[in-house]
Amino acid sequence: MSLVSGPGRAPNTLSDQKLCIEKHVEYIKKLDSRKDELEYWLTEHLRLNGVYWGLTALHLLGHPDGLPREDAINFVLSCQRDNGGFGAAPGHDAHILYTVSAVQILVTLDAVDELEKRGLGGKRKVGSFIAGLQDKETGSFMGDEWGELDTRFLYGAFNALSLLNLLDLVDVDKAVSYVQQCENLDGGYGVSPGAESHAGQVFTCVGALAIAGRLDLIDKDRLGGWLSERQVDNGGLNGRPEKLEDACYSWWVGASLAMIDKLHWVDGSKLAASLLRCQDPEAGGFADRPGHAVDVFHTHFALAGLSLLKYEGVGEIDPVYCLPRSITKKVLST
Ligand SMILES: [Zn+2]
Repeated sequence: MSLVSGPGRAPNTLSDQKLCIEKHVEYIKKLDSRKDELEYWLTEHLRLNGVYWGLTALHLLGHPDGLPREDAINFVLSCQRDNGGFGAAPGHDAHILYTVSAVQILVTLDAVDELEKRGLGGKRKVGSFIAGLQDKETGSFMGDEWGELDTRFLYGAFNALSLLNLLDLVDVDKAVSYVQQCENLDGGYGVSPGAESHAGQVFTCVGALAIAGRLDLIDKDRLGGWLSERQVDNGGLNGRPEKLEDACYSWWVGASLAMIDKLHWVDGSKLAASLLRCQDPEAGGFADRPGHAVDVFHTHFALAGLSLLKYEGVGEIDPVYCLPRSITKKVLST
């Protein structure tokens, strides 16, 4: 039963949109064949992330084989650099965010052993690239050799290393205490100690604590209160007070709530209806807001949000890893 259907609703209103599963599958599969279009080149810096978003969305839509497996593996391996990390596309510098996507794609395709066979140094080389980005003093992580610090990188490191079973390469306790320093009095977390709370950073901090097995450090009522206040009148979620809603925040906020068992603190059926209004029912894909241009990033995160809500026809997602639950169950044996 769909979360947005039910008695007492007027038919043919926008909120009664159905999830257009086949259209979304076609939209994602076509992304790979649009190499002659400007959009493709404008997004080259996001290419490896794009494969992860598209592949995960296809899993949630029940089409795990929607992308050609060998091509995807070959593309991932072609993005690896000598230092073990991965760039956005072949020839691009390695960065932790692309390295995490590379690991997530290989794990999803059950192809981590390809790193040993054809990668530059096997999975330990990937792990040592990531571990080398940890600041030994503070426990935080840089994104690359240029040194920018962000709790996104710390979460990404924990995500990829735990999937590779290499979390012992880093100082988990120090990283955990760094995350605690990013907690604010409103219950949320910022990009660094003292920075304003933001739902995206909340997700990364809560996710890192979940992987470290330290969710006990969170004041769940206080954080759940801040997160549930992100729901606006039309049912959508924003990232900070006074901001507009955005489909991708159904994930950042929703997954954070799910990890602390407070997802029921937002109105799920209103949220699902707001997400369905962001889909393009003709061409497929989701946008950040109704009527805007669709993209694979928002398509992935809107579907992930619907998955958290157990929306009919959408497969189960792991709120910690943002991967299909069937995959993390197998890899992490949880
Ligand atoms: Zn967004």
